Parts: sequence; structure tokens; C-alpha cells
Amino acid sequence: MHCHLDAVLCTSFSSKITSSRRPLYLNFALNATYFPTEDYYDYIVVGGGTAGCPLAATLSQTFRVLVLERGGVPYGNQKLMNQEGFLTALTEVDTYDCPAQTFTSEDVVLNARGQVLGGSSAINASFYSRADPEFYASSGVDWDLSLVNQSYDWVEKGAVFRPELKNWQSAVRDALLEAGIDPYHGFSLEHLVGTKIGGSTFDSSGKRHRAADFLNYAKPANIKVAIYASVERVLLASSSKVMSRLSAIGVVFRDEMGRYHHAMVKEKGIPVVYHHPNEGQFVYDNLRNGISILPPIPLEYSLIQVAGITEMGAYLEAASNVVPFTTPSRSVFVRPPSSPLLLTVATIMEKIVGPISTGSLRLASTNIRVNPIVRFNYFSNSRHGEMCERFVGPSLPVDQSNYEMMANFASVPVVDGSTFTISPGTNPQATVMMLGRYVGMRITKESD
Ligand SMILES: Cc1cc2nc3c(=O)[nH]c(=O)nc-3n(C[C@H](O)[C@H](O)[C@H](O)COP(=O)(O)OP(=O)(O)OC[C@H]3O[C@@H](n4cnc5c(N)ncnc54)[C@H](O)[C@@H]3O)c2cc1C
Repeated sequence: MHCHLDAVLCTSFSSKITSSRRPLYLNFALNATYFPTEDYYDYIVVGGGTAGCPLAATLSQTFRVLVLERGGVPYGNQKLMNQEGFLTALTEVDTYDCPAQTFTSEDVVLNARGQVLGGSSAINASFYSRADPEFYASSGVDWDLSLVNQSYDWVEKGAVFRPELKNWQSAVRDALLEAGIDPYHGFSLEHLVGTKIGGSTFDSSGKRHRAADFLNYAKPANIKVAIYASVERVLLASSSKVMSRLSAIGVVFRDEMGRYHHAMVKEKGIPVVYHHPNEGQFVYDNLRNGISILPPIPLEYSLIQVAGITEMGAYLEAASNVVPFTTPSRSVFVRPPSSPLLLTVATIMEKIVGPISTGSLRLASTNIRVNPIVRFNYFSNSRHGEMCERFVGPSLPVDQSNYEMMANFASVPVVDGSTFTISPGTNPQATVMMLGRYVGMRITKESD
């Protein structure tokens, strides 16, 4: 069993979070085995990930909130702290407690997702860049753009930094400009056509910040975070007012000892609607092409820091890693070296805006450790008309004030990367974090 993190409520908070200091959220993050078999909250956030953490921190200012996260805490895990650990965290996935869970789609493409507090923001390539204006215009959502900007600002004040470019990233920046991807914007978090240095969630001392850090902004008296808590079921019941209308009244989660707990919503429940016929459909993966080279001189580690954004919607990014290579042990001609050969691999990547082909996802089990069955159908459809489909499900109704249409559309409230119409900007995490804050603020305002 994992160690018990003492539940000492903190009383003070300093605004800028330094990564070397023990994070305040450890004061209210507890192993799920210590939770009662039943308890009541105003809001239950399933998944303490990139969107879940800022959402929970925001809601906790006004409401009593429970976060249920199937993984542990990232703090103290060296692989997750610096750029050098990036590949290791994605490849060492055999242990029960590993922060990344890999899965292979039916198209035989390897993928990863976070299973740790902070979610995929704790294992990703750290590049931070806001969404493109087109993302808001085509999403079918009536955004409060001033609140969107405030939410981005809130996210960025503690977790986003200007990276220092070294050889490879500087060379890529110069090459992009030479190739005509201009103008040059220098450092910018905005989505701008041309070449820019984007934000990084690694600070100037090389330490990673991730969504779990937003929990340091939570109101400690109002929040509990259960780690190693796997949610297996959402409990639904008819609301008293409209018998046919279902509400989510709680969830069932399992701790690592296999014991079940009920976390219930205090008030009427959260309204949900009927089974959605398109559930699990229209899933897509943003295509990425890459060229990797073995440079003759060693290069420093670098995850994505520079982006070239073209008018036609192609995005260029780069990384450099040191990768261990081993000779197959049965080789007749080459005697295998006793330790693997460390080679620098420099990669240039290209992504294309929006979904081009869509696939599907279905659960293989309610056990979160069993991967779902995913097929992205890469290259099955080259029509750009499909770029406006949702990640999961069809586009939102045009008239969102029509309750019946919205009711038939929605399901249990989802705030995460799966809800976007198109992938926002060059990379999604900035907007996923913003969305957590944004939705938390909207819920709080609407309850006034
Ligand atoms: C290797 C990699 C590199 C990437 N690089 C970048 C990058 O450089 N820049 C960028 O912008 N984006 C990047 N991304 C994408 C970005 O990180 C994700 O889009 C984003 O983090 C998704 O956020 P989310 O909130 O939707 O999900 P997550 O952050 O994955 O959060 C989901 C959380 O829910 C938990 N959970 C799931 N099911 C349950 C359950 N049943 N019970 C309890 N808990 C549960 C998970 O453990 C996880 O913590 C990368 C992604 C990966 C995998």
C-alpha cells in the first residue's frame, strides 16, 4: 500500500509556487483507503488531470469538492520532474504505480495517457500555447472571451515559463524563418502565424510544473483529493421534478485494497440526459508526421519550445532526446556492447490542424487499468469538411438555448480534452487548463 500523506490543513498560501517546496496540496491529498465508505460533497471531480485540477481548485473557493484520481502524486518522482525523464516516464510503464498508461490503438499506433495527479500534464512534452481564434469561432460554444483570457492568465501565472533555447531549438527557429514561416514573434503564448518561442511548463531551473500545482490555489477547508481512487460507476437517479430526467447523484470508486466507496452529491444531483447514441464515436487523433535524424554531434535534451505556424494550418515543432540503442544480442557480426549506446535523436514534427479522419472508442471493462478499444482510422478520410466534427460526438446544436436539443446532446458534464471541436492551437494543454478554470468560474457565477 502507498504511504499515508498526513492530512494537516494549511493556513497560508504564497502566490508563486516554487517546485522545490513541498506542495500545499499534499496536505489534503490522501490515499483513498482512508476515505469513508460514504460521504457527501457539492461537486465530485472524476480525474485529477489537466482540466480536473484547475476545475476543482476553482470550485473549492465556494463549494465542498472531492477529486478522485486513480494515480498517485507526481511530487518526488524524478522522472516527472525534468525533461530528461520524459521518455523514461513513457517507456517504464510496467509497474502498478507508473505515471503513464500506454495503449495501442487498433490501427497499431502506440499512445499514452497520464495516470497520476495532474494527468497528462505531468508526462507531456510541456509546450504551452493558447488556442487559435478559429477554435472559439467554430466550436459552437457561446464563450465569454473576457473570462477565457482571465482563465488563461490565471493558469499562466504559476505554471508557464519562457524556455531558454539551446542549439537544436535555436537551429529549428532559424530554419523555420529561412523556410519562410514568418514573421518572427519572439516569445509568445498566443497562436500567431509565423515562428515563435512558445511557453513551457518547465521553469528556469528545469523543474516541471503541472496541473496538480493548481490545487495549491484551492481552499484547503473545502477540498479533498483521493489518490489511488478509481471511479468505476456513476450513480444515476430520476430527479424529483421531472421523473424522466436523470441526475448524477454520486459515483462508486475503488481504492487500491479493492474496497468500494460511495461519494455522493449533496443537493439534487447533477442533471444528465439519456443514453447518447454517438457515445464513443467521432474520436480522432491529431495526425503528426516526424523526421528523426542522428546528428553527428551530441545535442542537449529539448522538448518542444519553438513552433512554426503556417497560414494553411500546418504546425512545425521539434525535440531532441538522448535514446539508448542496443544491438540485438544474437547478432553474429556485432558483439553487443555491455551498456546501450546513447545516441542523440533530433526530431522535426508536423501536425495538421483539425480532425481529418474519425474513429471510435469503447470500454473493454469498467476497470480503468484495462485499456479501452480505440480505433482512430488514420487516413481513412481526407476531406477537410470533417474538421468541424467534435472529438467525441457530433457538433453542438446551433441553438444552444433550446433545452430539449441540448438535453439530447449532453451527458454527464465532461470538462477535458475530449470535448473540443478541433484541437486548439498547436497543442491542447493550455486550453484544457484554461477550460478547467473557465468552467469552474462559470459554475460558481451561475450559482450566485
Ligand atoms: C506524451 C504526451 C505528450 C504531450 N505533449 C503535449 C505538449 O507538449 N503540449 C500540449 O499542449 N499538449 C501535449 N499533450 C496533450 C495534453 O497533455 C493532453 O491533451 C491534456 O493533458 C489532456 O488533459 P485532460 O484533462 O483531458 O486529461 P488528463 O490530463 O489525462 O487527465 C485525466 C485524469 O483522469 C484520471 N482518470 C481517468 N479515468 C479515471 C477513473 N475512472 N477514476 C479516477 N481517475 C481517472 C487519469 O488518471 C488522469 O489523471 C501531450 C500528451 C501526451 C500523452
